[in-house]
Amino acid sequence: MLETTTAGSLPKPGWLAETEKLWPAWRLEGAALAEGKRDAVLVALKEQETAGIDIVTEGEQGRQHFVHGFLERISGIDFAKRQTIGIRADRYKAVCPTVTGPIRRTEAVHGAEARFARANTRRKLKFTLPGPMTIVDTLADEHYRDRGKMAMAFAAALNEEARDLAAAGIDVIQFDEPAFNVYASEVREWGIAALERAAAGLNEGGLACKTAVHICYGYGIKANIDWKKSLGTQWRQYESVFPLLAKSRIDQVSLECINSHVPLDLVALLEGKDVLAGAIDVASDRVETPEEVAAAIRAVMKFAPAGRIFPCTNCGMAPMARATALGKLKALAAGAALVRKELGAA
Ligand code: ZN
Repeated sequence: MLETTTAGSLPKPGWLAETEKLWPAWRLEGAALAEGKRDAVLVALKEQETAGIDIVTEGEQGRQHFVHGFLERISGIDFAKRQTIGIRADRYKAVCPTVTGPIRRTEAVHGAEARFARANTRRKLKFTLPGPMTIVDTLADEHYRDRGKMAMAFAAALNEEARDLAAAGIDVIQFDEPAFNVYASEVREWGIAALERAAAGLNEGGLACKTAVHICYGYGIKANIDWKKSLGTQWRQYESVFPLLAKSRIDQVSLECINSHVPLDLVALLEGKDVLAGAIDVASDRVETPEEVAAAIRAVMKFAPAGRIFPCTNCGMAPMARATALGKLKALAAGAALVRKELGAA
């Protein structure tokens, strides 16, 4: 009960990449970079285990960015043709590669990373992939000219990848869809369908993998903080998405709770789903106390049974200082342990 996990990404060690950056440059090259990425995965797994995290990730140590890390090996995208576009409804500008042909997965993307992580931890292991809508929203397009169609093409490629990851022994595959909080009507029109296509069949035919979707208000960067100020005192974006997810085949929903303006009664809309409840604020460098984490978990327990709650971080911790992130992992585990003890489930 109250198994802890994270939204996925963790800071990279300073010997591997630039620190405290969303798009860090690698500090190694060639074979040394490949070895450095693997070593960083070992560190990330060990630090999560020692902190007491139950469902661990490889911390996205092999990826420069949570979206483009997947896209680098997908055919149909021209990485030399970069364009500055407004993303997340023009909240910020990003230099993005261009879709110039049909999207195809011609080779495995993260399989080797997943097998390496699987071989090096006995804990349950989660692997994150970008969701189809968020991918579409983080690319220039000169081929499909239709976001819904392009999302379905990416969903097919994601599904091939996800099935391979599940076959490699990954226990949970999470699709990151921050764009779900931005495009409510597109979520209804094609976003959920694309997500379900990406997640199809992961617990059938000998596979036993749970599926999750992470929907957040973004990393603690200035453009997001300014955007959040424009959303008013109650953030109700989840209100239109959660009933659609409740009817979907997705098993788990990761949302932000602590220090958020999200009204927690919206959690009740996720009936029947596992709730990955954000009890760690990634937009603040202050490390929560275990008691604060416990209070955040108890607040969510008013709207979902404890047996379906997985204490989690609000979002990824990639751009954070390493010591801060480690402190927050420990606080997360300690806070969950406090509540388990109260419930007599320690
Ligand atoms: Zn997030």
